[in-house]
Parts: sequence; structure tokens; C-alpha cells
Amino acid sequence: MKELSRRRVRGLQTHTVQEGRATCYACLRPTSYCLCQEINPFYAHCNVLLLQHPNEWRKYYSTAKLVKQSIVNSALLRGVVFEERVLHATLGDTEPVLLYPGPSSIDCEELPLDERHTILVIDGTWDEAGKIVWRNPMLQKLRRISFHSTLTSRYRIRKQPRRGYLSTIESVGHLLKLNAQAFGKAHYNESYDRLFAVFERMIEKQLAHLGETAEARV
Ligand SMILES: [Zn+2]
Repeated sequence: MKELSRRRVRGLQTHTVQEGRATCYACLRPTSYCLCQEINPFYAHCNVLLLQHPNEWRKYYSTAKLVKQSIVNSALLRGVVFEERVLHATLGDTEPVLLYPGPSSIDCEELPLDERHTILVIDGTWDEAGKIVWRNPMLQKLRRISFHSTLTSRYRIRKQPRRGYLSTIESVGHLLKLNAQAFGKAHYNESYDRLFAVFERMIEKQLAHLGETAEARV
């Protein structure tokens, strides 16, 4: 925790001193990228553990950060190799299920989930996610869950590397929503729609920012 605090402080100094921009002290993003006002946190019907590849965390538009801020019963660990001791401590006595495709993966509408489960979601590109699974034998042993239906990303900024790719916040939103609907928990829909709403705001902000940059160049 102390180490994390020091890193956060260094991050703040980077933004304020070198870039000369105002920083939001809650999310540590420059205020022009901050979405804290848009976030209305809620409890999900199962727990969520985000495993973030180190390349993702400095991005101002990391959608995993938005998931972490939005879902009260979520946690985020950062790294490529995760100590099993740390994973076990984070999971507590919940049953872990890995959101990852594969021949043995179960469709998210076929596996009932509740507060006794934790969904592990890898935040990174497909290559980074594959590397994380490969480097962590504990993850390879977990039951897998995935979407069998084709979903299209609303992400208009970053080019999607592959058909069927979704941002982390969209993946979590779809998983929770489809699962809740399939097992009589549709009353969670309103909460889960907030994930898509905050994602849309993020895209709007990003497009506005790109517009400003383009104008400044003219
Ligand atoms: Zn903020």
C-alpha cells in the first residue's frame, strides 16, 4: 500500500510539473480526461477481479480503471506474473472463473453467478492477455466463461485489433448483463447500463479532445 501511494504521488508530480495540467486527485487523470462525476458506484451480482497488464495502467483512457471505480465489489491487480498467495488473498473464499475464450469455455448465459463467484478479467491486448494466462499456471486451471454471441465494440477511437474484440468495460458490462438476465436478475440492468453510459462519455470526451488537438494544429 505504501509503495502504491509513492507511485501515485510520483504520477501526480509528472502530470502537474512536466505537463503543466491540472490533475484530478481521485482518479489521477488530467481533469480534462476525468470521468469521476459520471460514475455512480454499485454492487454487481458477482465479484470482479481485474488483472491489468502493466502497459495498460498509464493510459488516461484505461477502461479497467472505470470498472474499478464503478463496481464496489471489484479489485484490480497489476502485473504479468501474479503471486498465487496474492490471488488467493484477493479471492478470499469465492470461486474464481476466468473470462477468456477457449474450447472448454462456458457461455456466460449458461453458468449462474452470484456473490460466491469472482470473475477474473484480463485487461490488455489479446497478446498481453495470452501472455498473462501462459505465465500464470493458476489461471490455466480455472473454469472459463466467455460470450458465444458476437458483440460489437462501440469503441470508435482505438482500432480494434480483431473482430469480436471488446474493451474491458464493455466485456464486463456484457458479461454481467447477459448473466443477470439469464438467471432472473434483470433488476441489475440499470446498474450495468451505467458501465456503458460512462464508456460512452469517455468516448465523447476523447473525441472532443481529439477535435481540440486538431484545431490547435490548424
Ligand atoms: Zn477524476
